[in-house]
Amino acid sequence: MAEADKRVHIHMPESLAELLQLYRSKPRAAIYAGGTELLRGVTKAQFALPTEVISLQAIEELRRVSRTERYLEIGATATVARILQIGSNILPPAFYSAIHHIGPPGLYSLATLGGNICSFGQIFSVTPLLSIMDVRYEIRRQGNTRWIPASRFREPHGTPNLGEGEILTRIRIPLEHWNVQVFRQLGTIHLSNTSPLVFCALAKADKGALDDFRLTFCGHRPSMFRNREREADLVGRRIPLPQREIQTFLRGVEDEVGRSDMALTPLQVHRALSLTRLMLARLGHPEVLA
Ligand SMILES: Cc1cc2nc3c(=O)[nH]c(=O)nc-3n(C[C@H](O)[C@H](O)[C@H](O)COP(=O)(O)OP(=O)(O)OC[C@H]3O[C@@H](n4cnc5c(N)ncnc54)[C@H](O)[C@@H]3O)c2cc1C
Repeated sequence: MAEADKRVHIHMPESLAELLQLYRSKPRAAIYAGGTELLRGVTKAQFALPTEVISLQAIEELRRVSRTERYLEIGATATVARILQIGSNILPPAFYSAIHHIGPPGLYSLATLGGNICSFGQIFSVTPLLSIMDVRYEIRRQGNTRWIPASRFREPHGTPNLGEGEILTRIRIPLEHWNVQVFRQLGTIHLSNTSPLVFCALAKADKGALDDFRLTFCGHRPSMFRNREREADLVGRRIPLPQREIQTFLRGVEDEVGRSDMALTPLQVHRALSLTRLMLARLGHPEVLA
């Protein structure tokens, strides 16, 4: 019997059209953006790549960044370094802060926003924030383009919502004004024994009342906390919020986390509740920025 071909075939399409056609004919191929996640844990003794690899690195269209009055559009293979060049005066403050957490600085010129969003098995730093910012993703396969809200990109068990032959091509971030933007990452995201937590919240306040409020967090497992009904309970209230409102909200969050499949440790729950309390107590004060 003929031996299976175990050589690694690396394809480097130079245009989006070429990529989509190639991926259609090789839907089992591994998509390689910055490679930092794909190659994590690979050592010299154990060098194993899938037999078909499609690199996105030669496709200029996928690295583009553009801006209109309402949106910032970032190509899926724009690296952390490229995104940081856009500048803290243009990037929403919480996003600017979250982007710094995509790996240690040595990774900034390799790791891409698309690779971070599409990683399997774990939710990384920017995903919770993008899901409450009304960000939308452009997903393409040959002959078809669809847009999906970031909040619906993950299946309940955490797998990215990508069908056969589909690639994440663009990330569209609305340039809305949020008076309060919070992003905090505690612990080390890859290490469950550090009780990692990614916490994000956004609020709009006007004339002493809360106009909009969103809060989400996640731990090591690929599932995020968000409760739109509890958020809606606070919208329209005068700020600062009375202690009674804050306590009711916190109790609701704690109950729900206990019922969820997030499997947070007591330290993660403590961290999430402390950050929520701090955020609610200081709502409307600009010093709660990212
Ligand atoms: C030590 C260390 C610590 C880190 N800490 C953090 C952290 O705290 N927070 C954080 O957010 N990140 C962290 N990272 C970075 C994170 O783990 C990923 O390495 C990185 O975000 C992936 O980007 P990439 O471009 O290298 O993706 P790749 O490794 O190229 O791809 C990742 C996955 O996404 C798929 N993919 C990539 N691009 C696309 C696309 N356009 N369409 C469809 N599928 C695609 C790939 O097939 C692969 O499955 C850390 C990394 C290291 C090494």
